[in-house]
Amino acid sequence: MSEQTLTCIGCPMGCRLRVTLEDGQVTAVDGAACGRGAVYARQECVCPTRHISTLARVRGRREPLSVKTAQPIPKAMIFACVEEIHRTCVTPPVKIGDVIVENVCGTGVDVVATMEIEAAE
Ligand code: SF4
Repeated sequence: MSEQTLTCIGCPMGCRLRVTLEDGQVTAVDGAACGRGAVYARQECVCPTRHISTLARVRGRREPLSVKTAQPIPKAMIFACVEEIHRTCVTPPVKIGDVIVENVCGTGVDVVATMEIEAAE
């Protein structure tokens, strides 16, 4: 049996969670003020994930395009995914929500635009 302490990121309260694990499985979560804390603790201890927000290059422009993952990706894949996004060069026009990288690094998650860029005149 082992214990781990986490800070829940589900809301600004930031509850301190005490997680008990046995054989890699979460058996108890204490300290959460609501049910989201236990869900977060189980996810974080077994398979942590994160959203990525970063920038992609735009063909013919100096200003980059802001993008984000449409869903969270495994934390261990963050650097590989950021590298793949940074290798991408987008051709305008771009609308918010356009898929910029499909299935980034085989995660099953798409990277989408969070801003618009008009076509060159
Ligand atoms: S456990 Fe609930 S109340 Fe506490 S930080 Fe997480 S989401 Fe907020």
